[in-house]
Amino acid sequence: MSKLVYTKALIRLDREALIATVQEALSQARFEHCLRVEATAVALAKQYGEDAERASIASLLHDYAKEATVAELKQYADHPDYDPTWLNWGNAIWHGPLAAMKAQRELGLVDDEIYWAIYWHTVGTLNWTPTAKLVAISDFIEPKRTFPEVDEARALANQSLDAAIVYKMAQELRFLIHKGRAVYPQTLAVYNHWVETHQGG
Ligand code: GDP
Ligand code: FE
Ligand code: FE
Repeated sequence: MSKLVYTKALIRLDREALIATVQEALSQARFEHCLRVEATAVALAKQYGEDAERASIASLLHDYAKEATVAELKQYADHPDYDPTWLNWGNAIWHGPLAAMKAQRELGLVDDEIYWAIYWHTVGTLNWTPTAKLVAISDFIEPKRTFPEVDEARALANQSLDAAIVYKMAQELRFLIHKGRAVYPQTLAVYNHWVETHQGG
């Protein structure tokens, strides 16, 4: 990958400073996951003519709050995008929103498309931007993912971002049901909305 230099005023940090910040916040294994998601998302962005810079920033930051505590989450209770019902769920659900809010307050993230791509990367969104699709898909198919369906997901990502997104959403629902875990209401709403708008209901 040729060196990606940020040229737009999307966040206060340059790529090297952003990588160092993410590395400091996470275990080495999770930091490396973020680098693999970034490489995957940037490659897909180039393949589809989407914004590699936004894909890079959103991917590097998507799991920035994955090791944060509930106490840190609660420090954002006054934020307009804070949802108190997150406390009934776990970090699995709120680490995306907290990462977005932290990046906005601490790192000078000012770009809405990146903010919401990070915020919704786990549960999905009714308003899938190209950046949101690239992060969600790349998180699912980065090279060290090994679940049985990943090869199909990688093949779909090479054909169409939309095909890969709907495959990921369906697979996530199957996985949660198989494990007997609760489905976050928006996870289901996003899937239903996608089916209604893309497959004629
Ligand atoms: P990661 O942060 O790279 O591990 O990936 P994600 O952010 O996509 O997922 C984080 C965790 O949230 C995974 O274990 C998912 O299975 C889980 N998850 C995703 N959607 C839901 C949901 O609707 N309900 C619950 N309980 N867990 C979910
Ligand atoms: Fe995540
Ligand atoms: Fe991730």
